[in-house]
Amino acid sequence: MKRILILCVAIILFFSSCAKTREAKKTIFAMDTVMELTVYGNDGEAALTAGEAEIFRLDDLLDRGSEDSDIYKLNNDIDVDRVSPETIKLVRRALEVGASTDWAFDITIAPVVDIWGFYDQSYRVPSDDEITTALTKVGGDRVNVDEAVDLGETKIDLGGVAKGYASQRVSELFRNMGVDSALLNLGGNVQVIGTRPDGDPWRIAVQSPDGDGYAGVLSLSDAAAVTSGDYQRHFESGGVDYHHIIDPETGYPADSGLRSVTVVCEDATLADGLSTALFVMGLDAASDYWRENGGFEAVFITSVGEIYVTSGLKDKFESEYAYTVLENSITKQ
Ligand code: AMP
Ligand code: MG
Repeated sequence: MKRILILCVAIILFFSSCAKTREAKKTIFAMDTVMELTVYGNDGEAALTAGEAEIFRLDDLLDRGSEDSDIYKLNNDIDVDRVSPETIKLVRRALEVGASTDWAFDITIAPVVDIWGFYDQSYRVPSDDEITTALTKVGGDRVNVDEAVDLGETKIDLGGVAKGYASQRVSELFRNMGVDSALLNLGGNVQVIGTRPDGDPWRIAVQSPDGDGYAGVLSLSDAAAVTSGDYQRHFESGGVDYHHIIDPETGYPADSGLRSVTVVCEDATLADGLSTALFVMGLDAASDYWRENGGFEAVFITSVGEIYVTSGLKDKFESEYAYTVLENSITKQ
């Protein structure tokens, strides 16, 4: 009898450990990027199917080039009353993040993104006149969001938050389906649910802007880690490299002395908006922003290869390179 009991216990343990480490994986191409979803545990396949459908739903909703999308409707002032409350909420959120960054993050940057060809990959260097004209239509503070969204003369591009929002939504969906261990990588926007199946934190590499290697590794659980980098989308013309993160003040790719910013926090939408904004701001203004607002941590890599890490990541970041920890106290003179 005792032996049978031991055998039963052993079998249950074996099955439960199997169930915990069962891995289901899916690669999706959406939002102009490669996305990889990995789920551990039972029903991983069902979660992946639901996650994939959610990503495609959001791509259709937010892609400003598709005539059926909500953003197309807003940008072209067509059927605006049929724009979903979800989109309005996301636009409001993106504008809030923009205002808090003094419009370093500005979704009304669309006309400038277009003349550089970053939207449809028809890359070219626009003339100064074109940039000046495009900039006259930029300004998140000109959008009226009191009731319905009224863009006025502006047009919006949610490229700076869409992947983060998709990652947030898929994580919520997974959690509601009972998933407690998963890894989402939406084209460099990483979000982890719970821990690894063995209970250890996930290890997320921070890419080195110069090549295939990595600058360091973050150990995270239940968090988003979103990177904006000049190497993610760029083209070369006349020996100069032009990347896709535009400084709304100049209309040119931001030249802030940073090559990448990785923002870590629970809210992936915020992390995505902030990674773009902090990249535009540059290290000094970005670290001031962190000290004044908090609620997130970040890894900065500068053009000369220095690495700066905010103090909340002190025990979560490892690197074979030297790095500086930014402390919370304001040390401005
Ligand atoms: P990310 O890769 O999240 O940093 O976002 C970059 C994308 O957001 C670009 O491809 C543009 O579509 C858009 N974008 C570029 N510059 C800005 C900006 N300053 N504020 C908001 N969105 C931007
Ligand atoms: Mg972003």
